[in-house]
Amino acid sequence: MTYAIVSDIHSNLEALDAVFARIDAHVRILCLGDIVGYGPDPNACLARVRARAHETVLGNHDVAAIDSYGLAYFNEAARSAIEWTQGQLAAEHLDWLDGLSYELRHPDFLLVHGAPVDYFTYILDKAAATRAFAATDAPLIFVGHTHIADAYALGPDGTLEHRFFQQGGTLDLIPEHRYIINVGSVGQPRDLNPDASFVRFDDAARRVEWERVPYALEETQRKIAEARLPEALGRRLGAGR
Ligand code: ZN
Repeated sequence: MTYAIVSDIHSNLEALDAVFARIDAHVRILCLGDIVGYGPDPNACLARVRARAHETVLGNHDVAAIDSYGLAYFNEAARSAIEWTQGQLAAEHLDWLDGLSYELRHPDFLLVHGAPVDYFTYILDKAAATRAFAATDAPLIFVGHTHIADAYALGPDGTLEHRFFQQGGTLDLIPEHRYIINVGSVGQPRDLNPDASFVRFDDAARRVEWERVPYALEETQRKIAEARLPEALGRRLGAGR
């Protein structure tokens, strides 16, 4: 089976459409959450994900959009974007979001937004990766949340390796090793590459491939300005941070 795994779309329709255009119809699309927040097209992005993704887990911005949960921990721009989103969201999309779960377990992989068990923890270093591996027995853990395309590999002897994939790249999975795969962000990359990020996973070939997709970010920036969302949210798309 070939999977395409997307995360952190953040209401960026131009980025989402550019990514989905690269994914053939037979590929199973999995979504790691944060469909909304920050960007100007929450309803259109939800409609696209509902039409094409086979499985989706909740992100912290999705939860905040549903019932303001965790909003106190958001920075000012993120909070005002969620409040704007709450005024936009169609009731049927809200109901659909409300029915999603925080994790989905397959026989050989786990889907969560940020980390196993502590779903909205950021895995930004080896210490956090070590805690994440210890929290589950899943051999392969797919995450988003940091908006940084990278991977941690835990060897059978306990060695832990880390590698960035912000220019794309391929990782061949080695037997007996465990992995945390961060698929990066579709709609608001923060790894200094403004192109949308997603991952392809071929479970038979045991191969993970990061792909970066350029999109019309000037259009997204124009919509952010038009919606009177915080200006910084448009600016950061151009810088990829
Ligand atoms: Zn996010």
